[in-house]
Amino acid sequence: MTNKQYHAETLSVRAGSEATEFGENSEALFLNSSFRFKSAAQAAARFGGQEPGNIYSRFTNPTVTMFQNKLAALEGAEQCVATSSGMSAILACVMGLCSAGDHIVASRSIFGTSVQLFSNIMARWGLLVTYVSLTNPAEWQAAVTPKTKLFFAETPSNPLTEVCDIAALANIAHNAGVYLVVDNCFCTPAIQRPLDLGADIIIHSATKYIDGQGRCLGGAVLGSKALMEPVYGFLRTAGVTMSAFNAWVFLKGLETLHVRMEAHARKALALATWLEKQPQVARVFYPGLVSHPQHVLALKQQTSGGGIVSFEVKSKAGQTQQQAAWALIDATQLISITANLGDAKSTITHPATTTHSRVSAEARAAAGIQDNLVRIAVGLEHVDDLKADLSLLAK
Ligand SMILES: *Cc1c(COP(=O)(O)O)cnc(C)c1O
Repeated sequence: MTNKQYHAETLSVRAGSEATEFGENSEALFLNSSFRFKSAAQAAARFGGQEPGNIYSRFTNPTVTMFQNKLAALEGAEQCVATSSGMSAILACVMGLCSAGDHIVASRSIFGTSVQLFSNIMARWGLLVTYVSLTNPAEWQAAVTPKTKLFFAETPSNPLTEVCDIAALANIAHNAGVYLVVDNCFCTPAIQRPLDLGADIIIHSATKYIDGQGRCLGGAVLGSKALMEPVYGFLRTAGVTMSAFNAWVFLKGLETLHVRMEAHARKALALATWLEKQPQVARVFYPGLVSHPQHVLALKQQTSGGGIVSFEVKSKAGQTQQQAAWALIDATQLISITANLGDAKSTITHPATTTHSRVSAEARAAAGIQDNLVRIAVGLEHVDDLKADLSLLAK
């Protein structure tokens, strides 16, 4: 099928799917490591790249290929490289496109493990990283050096849902001969398509909303054929491969991506609106709220505010900020206490002592992540049950 003529929802359901000779209507799961050739000559042609086709599941598997083609159609990318996790997607991107001595400018508010990867691991191999404010384009501009290869951003940010102007950042990147990488995990292509706004590369943790039901780890890198060639080359050699089973789960997840993301966003907006009215809540962070400082920009580049809501809890007399946040979390009975997100089950976490506990207290304060901050990844339960579960706010 030619993808251009169809709407996004249709691509979610149909793009990338191919049937075998049996004509199965749901994608087949190819749980095999290698593929047979009809002759020695065909084997040589496959290995030499003269004949397209499958060789070995470290780098070619039909189920993984269907997943890659579906996600590429949804992001409007020429090529998708599926990986074993979101982190290995970031690793493959950097290993494919950078060398020792190269420099990356990254937002200070990217996923904590991405910071560990850049600063504690890649740095040992000679990669230089400068961290800047997500929302201040002048800082990105000022950080550019002759060795800068990539800008790395995540929007909206975790957990404060700050939004960056992707088009403005792409402009600065391109004027400097730099590629803009956007981690689109929080939005998915159902809400935001960074390549349309000028980004060059997209990173996904498929573990989150692409699966949507908390089952599998996976990731993806997307972009032009030229940019993906060295990324795929790294994957083929290093083996940070998505398992066929996980690709099969993600294919099913992508079929329902649009309905799920609409529901997550609708429920998140309802919860955020309600939270804003609770006397025990000091402040709510959600791009879909008019009170969000970048509400207008967010809705220019996103179709909704997404499913993540953060808020600050007021302390009662004699309570520290952390005690107030922990008491609220511990009083829940329905919402899962876990740092994961993008699940049908709503999850609640205290960023200062979980996702951002490896960040110093000073850096957390500078980033605006207070000890009374709570993050909820709104799932698919009825929103009235979620409100009732935040029982300490009602008292
Ligand atoms: C979870 C996450 C990752 C890492 O993905 P894994 O699949 O856990 O390796 C990267 N970026 C963001 C924004 C994430 O939320």
